Amino acid sequence: MSSYTKQIHRCFRCGYCKFPSDYAEYNCPSFSRFRFETYSTGGRLWLLWAWVKKEVEWSENLAKIMFSCVTCKNCVEHCPMKFKDDIVDWIVSARKDIIEKGAVLSSVRDFLNNIHKYGNPWGEARGKRAVWAEDVKRYKPGDEFLFYVGCVGSYDERGQRMARSFAELLEKADVSYGILGSEEECDGNEVYVLGEMGLFQELARKNTGKFKELNVKKVVTLSPHAYNVMKNKYPRYGTFEVFHYTEVLLKIIQEAKLKLSELNVEVTYHDPCFLGRYNNIYEVPRKILKNIPGIKLVEMDRNRENSFCCGGGSGNFVMDLLGGSEESPSRIRVKEAYETGAEILAVACPSCLTMFEDAVKNEGLEKELFVKDISELLKEVSK
Ligand code: SF4
Ligand code: SF4
Repeated sequence: MSSYTKQIHRCFRCGYCKFPSDYAEYNCPSFSRFRFETYSTGGRLWLLWAWVKKEVEWSENLAKIMFSCVTCKNCVEHCPMKFKDDIVDWIVSARKDIIEKGAVLSSVRDFLNNIHKYGNPWGEARGKRAVWAEDVKRYKPGDEFLFYVGCVGSYDERGQRMARSFAELLEKADVSYGILGSEEECDGNEVYVLGEMGLFQELARKNTGKFKELNVKKVVTLSPHAYNVMKNKYPRYGTFEVFHYTEVLLKIIQEAKLKLSELNVEVTYHDPCFLGRYNNIYEVPRKILKNIPGIKLVEMDRNRENSFCCGGGSGNFVMDLLGGSEESPSRIRVKEAYETGAEILAVACPSCLTMFEDAVKNEGLEKELFVKDISELLKEVSK
């Protein structure tokens, strides 16, 4: 067993981590969805401790509770204790033990097996990865950026549109770039947070091996999940700079490589967990939006470090363990966006994009709230 087994008793279930800074709402997505204490941070840690002490047996329900944490780090932001930075690592370590014991949920097992066999969580053929991108340039040594598209950008129709918008903006701004096409592998961020460390290492080695072979110096990712894992977990496998696509777009705007026309609309922005709480990038996407003439940016009550996760983390953009209810995080969040009066909910993550598109339909808001990625918005106004 990992060292978390000697630490988790330090959480005394005070419950502060369940709330945002103003205590107005519940902030742990899995607790908001299920409203049982075992689905909150403290309850989950105590249940885990009971499992470690062999006071409870493994059950499908126990595994569901452990894997329904979306690793959003909201609890880390709000726990008052010194150990707070370790909370998510404890949960990830426990999942690693659960997986090693073979006591895993079938949906998690399928998710991981598909990535192992096919390089994507849906089990789609590897050859389909770049079908959307036949006309998009392939990376060649000397290009400034390797554009790492990721699984959602490659296989999901909505994600593909996002990827295409970003590629078109790079073209328009005359930035040299290329993609890996069908040679791209899953980035492994979800594999890591689900606790499958052997598969994660294999993916990290394959991706960084490819980057080395092509002498890649700069990688730009569509997804904050890929950005996070490459920035924080890949360095031991290889050295290259990593950028999120919003960082590259902001630089393009600041260098006046795009001319922007007016768009008179109110927009609210959702902070993705792996960009915001994990990597402290809150202002870059907002600066892009503020640079579009006519846009009025309105904030949801929960923003920046208090931002409420869409529920898609830890592979839940596929498994959706928190789905199926009005209290599903994505549905709670689109209602918050709608309440601001904004017409557009802007996102900077392909997983948030797909989660919110579905939630808007489930809430019957398709004619009132439009979910758009920042590169799509920018493409609309760039000349
Ligand atoms: S994780 Fe921190 S804030 Fe949450 S219940 Fe435990 S001690 Fe309290
Ligand atoms: S990381 Fe997010 S989902 Fe997991 S326990 Fe903390 S607040 Fe809840």
